[in-house]
Amino acid sequence: MENLVQVHERKRLFIGLLGISLAVVGLLAVAIWYLIFSPEQSIFYKIVLLLLAVGLFAVILLAGFGLAGIVLTIVRSRPFAPFQGPMRVALNTFFPLVLVLGRIFRIDLDKIKRSFIEVNNNLVQAREIHIQPHQLLLLAPHCLQNSACTHKVTGNIDNCQRCGQCSVNSILELRERYGIRVGMATGGTLARKYIVDYRPRAIVAIACERDLTSGILDANPIPVLGVTNLRPNGPCHNTDFSLEHLEQAIHFFIG
Ligand code: SF4
Repeated sequence: MENLVQVHERKRLFIGLLGISLAVVGLLAVAIWYLIFSPEQSIFYKIVLLLLAVGLFAVILLAGFGLAGIVLTIVRSRPFAPFQGPMRVALNTFFPLVLVLGRIFRIDLDKIKRSFIEVNNNLVQAREIHIQPHQLLLLAPHCLQNSACTHKVTGNIDNCQRCGQCSVNSILELRERYGIRVGMATGGTLARKYIVDYRPRAIVAIACERDLTSGILDANPIPVLGVTNLRPNGPCHNTDFSLEHLEQAIHFFIG
């Protein structure tokens, strides 16, 4: 059972961070208000203006380097080492902002997420990553399982009787063929548990756009190649995947 002290600590951390965020936003608002309504341009006025300008410039610079690094990596199909930090920050920090913009301009969010997965896959593939099969984790969603099947494969995929009625069978075949680790997850919590248990150096994940994007962001800095699932029966029901795309992703990591 979870320790009460740990629960309190977690709450304190969240409330503390929330407090700091509010304080930063509050300070920013006061500074802007002061700049707009201050009657005279005192030395304090100039310092506040300078600090705001430096802060804004730093954010723009970080975003600019990050974006330039992403574009250069994709164009050259090779990693651009000096910009790795800003690229990671740009990709992870600004993604929620991109989603907000998407909502404002009424762009299909799945389309934006597919684009994010594509960019992420390109960035991962531009790197030279060669690992042993046991260091690779294949994460699959439980909705691959035939809904009529009574065997509980989440938590333990070996409960599958391999009748061939769904692609859980193919996942087990891949595990045998390549010697990789496999986890079947019902959501982010179980996926994170597999990552903690297996400590993989790379991940290949099958999921819908929403789960893949959050998984890629969650797993950072572990490189993840995302394979979007196929949904011939609608979302979360008897889904499937492209075996060709999945094997390409596995081959990338283990050669
Ligand atoms: S292959 Fe057969 S036994 Fe295994 S999960 Fe699918 S339906 Fe169930």
